[in-house]
Amino acid sequence: TAAIIDGKAVAAELRGEVARGAADFAGRAERKAGLAVVLVGRDPASEVYVGSKVRMTRDVGMESFEHRLPAETTQADLLALIRRLNEDPAVDGILVQLPLPRHLDAGSVILSIDPAKDVDGLHPENAGRLANGLPGLAPCTPLGAMLLVARAVPNLSGLEAVVLGRSALVGKPVAQMLLSANATVVVAHSHTRALPDVCRRADVLIAAVGRPELVRGDWIKPGATVIDVGINRLAPEPGAAKGRLVGDVAFGEACAVAGAITPVPGGVGPMTIACLLRNTLDAARRRLSIAGEG
Ligand code: NAD
Repeated sequence: TAAIIDGKAVAAELRGEVARGAADFAGRAERKAGLAVVLVGRDPASEVYVGSKVRMTRDVGMESFEHRLPAETTQADLLALIRRLNEDPAVDGILVQLPLPRHLDAGSVILSIDPAKDVDGLHPENAGRLANGLPGLAPCTPLGAMLLVARAVPNLSGLEAVVLGRSALVGKPVAQMLLSANATVVVAHSHTRALPDVCRRADVLIAAVGRPELVRGDWIKPGATVIDVGINRLAPEPGAAKGRLVGDVAFGEACAVAGAITPVPGGVGPMTIACLLRNTLDAARRRLSIAGEG
């Protein structure tokens, strides 16, 4: 049966590395690296994510600046806040928690963030940098997925990688990262024909579709590495308050075939915040070295 890739443990290791880097940064810069988190409205899932981000930012020895705005905040007010954060020397990273309330335009909010502080890696300039192999800030969930791939497959050169899903948040950037690592990459999506056959070619299969247990055991090449990005909540069983969390992969079936696999929860999920903290440290270091040259 498949080796389980322990995302919780890898994420804890990474946060330890970031904490050491953050202490070194604070010594050289005479201030802590800082991450500003902006939450508009009271979406319960977003509240939980923002709460964890704030807590873990402080745990690794960085400054956390929280901006909680009412749901009826206007686009102009949100853009004015981002402008202030762009100019604030104590802020190295800016994260706007998505989704935004419906009356706000996420695209233009992301465009307004200074690309050097865009620790979510969603600004088109950073997406372009990733696609062209230039240094920049890359999205956190794909970074986390790649660090877990590396645990099972240290060298991707020439291997076939299949990415299920083509979102700007996960599928596209992870495909770029796999390409940069010299894998042969196929990106499959909702229009792909013969999906099981496409998946069976994969030495490395990354599932990021948001469809509970879509990928069955017989879609997986024996020995393949399977990274399950999906986080889906099933309808509650009778009598239960909450449904179970499952990934995009039928975990039990997949374990019998795959060589290595990430669980849900406890796989890619914990890596995302750890990579956000690493991006913040990277952004802080880059800003410090630019200031030092100036
Ligand atoms: P999305 O809805 O933006 O994109 C889904 C993609 O899957 C699309 O490109 C679509 O073409 C493809 N797709 C949908 N149904 C399909 C089907 N039946 N067959 C083939 N392709 C299909 O979603 P996203 O933002 O990329 O997120 C994907 C999943 O990853 C979700 O479950 C989300 O909750 C999870 N996620 C987890 C983290 C984390 O671990 N921290 C972060 C982001 C997203």
